[in-house]
Amino acid sequence: MTRRVVLIGHPVAHSFSAQMQQAAFDALGIDARYELLDTPAPALQETIEALRGEEYLGANVTIPHKERAATFVDRKSEDAAATGAVNCITRDGRRLVGHNTDVDAFRISLDTLVGKQKMPRNAVVLGAGGAARAAVHALITMGFQRVVVFNRHLHRAEGLVRHFGRSAAHMELRAMPWHESVIESELSRTRVLVNATSVGLASDESPIPGELLPPDLLVLDMIYNPPETRLLREAKAAGASGVMNGELMLLQQGAAAFQLWTGQPAPMDVMRQKLDEAREAGTGANAGELA
Ligand code: NDP
Repeated sequence: MTRRVVLIGHPVAHSFSAQMQQAAFDALGIDARYELLDTPAPALQETIEALRGEEYLGANVTIPHKERAATFVDRKSEDAAATGAVNCITRDGRRLVGHNTDVDAFRISLDTLVGKQKMPRNAVVLGAGGAARAAVHALITMGFQRVVVFNRHLHRAEGLVRHFGRSAAHMELRAMPWHESVIESELSRTRVLVNATSVGLASDESPIPGELLPPDLLVLDMIYNPPETRLLREAKAAGASGVMNGELMLLQQGAAAFQLWTGQPAPMDVMRQKLDEAREAGTGANAGELA
């Protein structure tokens, strides 16, 4: 029986996961198919329930469903429980297990971006969805001392801060309103800026005006398609000391998910090469649908 793995999200057309994961299954001779499943919010629960069937190895979950997906699984890994967000689902018999492979993937990406410099202790995170939760959990556990979360809808950032109340008790984790002057003032006292919003994914927009960006920032934009968002371009122009898109994070979270579904180490070189090809072709699986 050909096994199925699905990417559950809305939209999913921008995603490179299908090319990357299918190449990995094929390289290891695993009889499995990776499919994009565009899933509007009302269909989420039913779609996740269907994963209990024997034909499924599991699923990935992406925008905007990572937090709600966490409520529909039977059990959660430590990182999924800590973040309250699930980006990967495996099946244990008919029981569904939720994982969060974004956390380690974010950690590896930030480590790579910072390189040999000393790891900074202050960060600004834009966004308060599932991806922001992974970033904040990673920052807390990496020893950051002050993390400020800005979100268009403040209440969601406040919910995130409440969620991490206990694990962030030893440091300062704050939600702040999305006002340019407040963002500018926070950025002037931070080294690390993380974009965990989806702004820049479907259009050449930046979540914040370039004038707010001080020099010497380290900017990690979780978006990988397009490879250079307006935020990254403007950060470079402002004199950023380092910028990184979400491609390494995509590769790392995907490799960890592959291992969870198959029990085998992911063929990283094959996956990396597929990502290179997808980037060079400038396409997601169904390019154009998002444009
Ligand atoms: P969610 O849908 O859960 O959250 C989206 C976030 O973007 C929210 O904070 C939302 O704010 C914000 N947002 C959306 N539109 C706007 C806007 N016009 N102005 C300001 N803020 C806006 O998505 P995820 O958290 O799952 O993903 C966020 C991004 O991170 C996506 O681009 C995703 O592709 C990327 N990502 C990349 C990964 C990788 O491996 N590279 C892994 C995970 C995510 P509000 O709450 O106010 O609506």
